[in-house]
Amino acid sequence: MATQKKNTAAEEAARKALEAVQAKKSAEKAAAKPAEKKKVEHTITQVGQQSTNKEELLAITKKNAMPYRIGAVVCWVLAIVCEIMAILVFVRTVQFGFTQENPGWWICWGAFLLLDLVFVIVGSQLWKKGNHLDPASAKNKTRFWLHNNLGIFVAALCFIPFIIIALLDKNADKKAKTWAAVIAAVALALGVTTSIDYNPISQEEMLNNAATYEKVYWLDKGEVFHAFDECQYVHGKELNTGSGEEAVKAGKTRICKVCEKKIQDGLVPDDMNEKEWTDLLNSAAQAASGAASGAAAD
Ligand SMILES: [Zn+2]
Repeated sequence: MATQKKNTAAEEAARKALEAVQAKKSAEKAAAKPAEKKKVEHTITQVGQQSTNKEELLAITKKNAMPYRIGAVVCWVLAIVCEIMAILVFVRTVQFGFTQENPGWWICWGAFLLLDLVFVIVGSQLWKKGNHLDPASAKNKTRFWLHNNLGIFVAALCFIPFIIIALLDKNADKKAKTWAAVIAAVALALGVTTSIDYNPISQEEMLNNAATYEKVYWLDKGEVFHAFDECQYVHGKELNTGSGEEAVKAGKTRICKVCEKKIQDGLVPDDMNEKEWTDLLNSAAQAASGAASGAAAD
């Protein structure tokens, strides 16, 4: 009797263990199957499909970027004007009625330096936005980097002359010189770090995106398109849909990082056939590993 009870208990434990394993397996299965379409509520606007050649597409992206580039140049010119004013006040060519002992003198050149910084930062953000709408070619790596990070040189031009002139000024006292140099150096550091494009996109990458994707989704706001309408960033939002080319024309030149990761994990984007899918994976693998991509076959 006792043995039988023991057996039953063992059987019960085994059954429970098996159930637990099965439950775990089905949970894993469910988690690993995001490919299955969850029905997501969206208002999706279909954008008219109009195929264009490469030159036409580049003309459109150039036009998209133009207002931002003009804005950047205007801001940078204003930044230089502010730097010149800061210098003129510091060396007292322009006095606004303040003597060097008057706090107004400090406030005056300090304010011009601050305005200088604001224009440098705004200009650089506009410049970067322009480059994201109309990316430069990455064929020449140096030119590509210089083009994307032009703001760094503008920042240098907008603060270094002030620092040199302030330090060399014979009339200002040591305390004023030191403070002027420190403040301008901090502004320079801020100007440089905000001018770097940490996320550049190349023309080649953009053209590849335009040619690869047959159906993508994008929001009115932002710079990316999505390969999946259930992506967390577009969940339940008003979406536009069209080809990769239409997305690029609408200013969405790069794919969202989350959607990109899903593709890398093996998900086939909406309305993309197996061949395009494989081509995309191969080109991504080539890009990632350079010439050595033989192992990526199959
Ligand atoms: Zn996405």
